[in-house]
Amino acid sequence: MSADCIFCKIVQGDIPSKKIYEDDDVIAFHDIHPITKVHFLLVPKLHVESLASCGSQHQALLGKMLLLAPELAKQQGLSGFRTMINTGREGGQEVFHMHVHVFGGGSTLPKT
Ligand code: ADP
Repeated sequence: MSADCIFCKIVQGDIPSKKIYEDDDVIAFHDIHPITKVHFLLVPKLHVESLASCGSQHQALLGKMLLLAPELAKQQGLSGFRTMINTGREGGQEVFHMHVHVFGGGSTLPKT
């Protein structure tokens, strides 16, 4: 856990979230500023700064997160969805606790 990390605070329950899934390793909750009708985040409980900070020790965790994406998207009523992992400041990352965005249900996103 990282003391100043907003997602660690959500994991610990210190900041409320609209949670849709939780297990020992991962939590998923709706984005506070959704840019599509359905927009949720898959977040590891372990504090890892970004995808670029991941190593082979995170292989199973990353696999689990990607496999959860279609499962949770389906639960949210989506027949298709888009995933995004912003990595580093130049990659548009603003919260430095690695996470996967899942978007769907009527998109304001560009086609590509
Ligand atoms: P970007 O803001 O460019 O998408 P990130 O990929 O780092 O950068 O995404 C961080 C996401 O976390 C944003 O979509 C933001 O709306 C969301 N967010 C920030 N604080 C909260 C919160 N307390 N609860 C839910 N989502 C949050």
